[in-house]
Amino acid sequence: MSIAEVLAVGTELLLGQVLDTNSQFLSDELARLGIDCYYHTTVGDNKRRVGNLLKTALSRSEIVITSGGLGPTPDDLTMECIAEVMGAEMVMDEKILEVIRSFFSERGIVMPENNEKQALRPSGADLLPNPTGTAPGIIWTITPERLKEAGIESVPELKSKNRYIMTFPGVPSELKNMWATTVVDFLQSKIVGAAIFSVELKHFGIGESALAEKYADLLAGRNPTVAPYAGNGECRLRVTGKSDDMANAREMVAPLVAAIQERSGNYCYGLDNSTLESVVGDLLKSQGLMISSAESCTGGLLSKRLTDVAGSSEYISLNVVTYSNQAKQSVLGVSEKILNEFGAVSPECAEAMARGVRKISGADIGIGITGVAGPSGGTEEKPVGLVYLGLAMGDTYVGKKLSLPARLGRTEIRHRTANEALNMVRLQLLERVNVNV
Ligand code: AMP
Ligand code: MG
Repeated sequence: MSIAEVLAVGTELLLGQVLDTNSQFLSDELARLGIDCYYHTTVGDNKRRVGNLLKTALSRSEIVITSGGLGPTPDDLTMECIAEVMGAEMVMDEKILEVIRSFFSERGIVMPENNEKQALRPSGADLLPNPTGTAPGIIWTITPERLKEAGIESVPELKSKNRYIMTFPGVPSELKNMWATTVVDFLQSKIVGAAIFSVELKHFGIGESALAEKYADLLAGRNPTVAPYAGNGECRLRVTGKSDDMANAREMVAPLVAAIQERSGNYCYGLDNSTLESVVGDLLKSQGLMISSAESCTGGLLSKRLTDVAGSSEYISLNVVTYSNQAKQSVLGVSEKILNEFGAVSPECAEAMARGVRKISGADIGIGITGVAGPSGGTEEKPVGLVYLGLAMGDTYVGKKLSLPARLGRTEIRHRTANEALNMVRLQLLERVNVNV
């Protein structure tokens, strides 16, 4: 197993102005490749501190990945720091200078002088092309002897290992592009020396610890490995196989994925890039059904999620946000009696909303959502986080009550409610398939 670490360079990160999403992306990608990442460090645009961190990183990790500090301005100093730490000269790459010049001339602009700096790199380092920006990065292979020459002491277990420095600009889209077009191949061929294939099994309705417990027998496996991840109110199991060729790696992973799908049943809603909304979309399309929704506390979030899927016009008929009682009455036909007797946040109101929107849209399915997203507006009887969902479809009506913890906050309560609503539709449509079979 190779060991990597990520250095995020940029004062804006330390000031809290920009969230360090690059480290997250890089770690996720490294995990996919079966490379261990032991450290994330964030450092400002300061030559001495970046230099010190680079030395530490090179002493304890084989792969050192930096993000940021490759721009044309004086505060962009990652490349200079690397050259200084390694005792290397900075050399001008005339070809790259031409590429940067044409980047500007193609846009009808004369290249500012300080952009010349971006064509400099430490002598001995290879170029890491940047197809979408002006700042290229480097991939530099450093032998143990070269490391020693630079006066960097290695940790004992890595003494005989090469080091690899990879630098990326901070702009996330450029970093991702460079990663996908060049680095993945480099890491797979030069470092991992193996083909790695992984599949993510996305779960909903089961927590991370319950999932880990259910699959305790598999989590101990070494190859393929099975690892649980949680976030965004859902859980994933990632199955990763490593072999000397890709076909083998795939073959190792496939039966395990099938076995987990079988064992997880409806908890597992899809693989890899599937989302709850894409799965719901597929089910609606394959069953030839139209959906409509009436939202209150989610303010259109369910509608947004449903319509995030390209081609969703095939199965969405009408989505409305009826926030006030008056709108619930006049648009959806929720009765005054329900609103007076049970209130807007009640199972009765969710049902009337679901049935109402189905009726006015003529869709096959109507969804109603009403609840208290907070942080204010909660009472003892109807606390923040109390939500009622309703699904009306033909003669079927399904209601669901959510009691989400108020501490989650408004955004998370709304997000989870939309997830639950999508999952409710998914389960209903799956049941329909089973009944028909
Ligand atoms: P730089 O390559 O340092 O000039 O960074 C360019 C821009 O990328 C910065 O102004 C930030 O908006 C963004 N950026 C830098 N580092 C990160 C990071 N670690 N994660 C996300 N965005 C970043
Ligand atoms: Mg910067």
